[in-house]
Amino acid sequence: MCIICSGLENNTLTPWEAATNLIEMGNFIEQEHFEELSEKINDLLWSQRLNTCIFCNTEPCQCEQEVQ
Ligand SMILES: [Zn+2]
Ligand SMILES: [Zn+2]
Repeated sequence: MCIICSGLENNTLTPWEAATNLIEMGNFIEQEHFEELSEKINDLLWSQRLNTCIFCNTEPCQCEQEVQ
């Protein structure tokens, strides 16, 4: 396990930060693990985008509360 994995596991890294770290540390990570990680981060980014409202950028959506 590398710092990126443990950061994701302990929620000390957001998927966005993990993606940035992965790019920065790309040379220090084994090719195989790099691929695993980019898949993992992609999944996280994708599921976050699906769950997070694009208008209020909050999960769960709080648009209705803001309107009141
Ligand atoms: Zn790792
Ligand atoms: Zn919303």
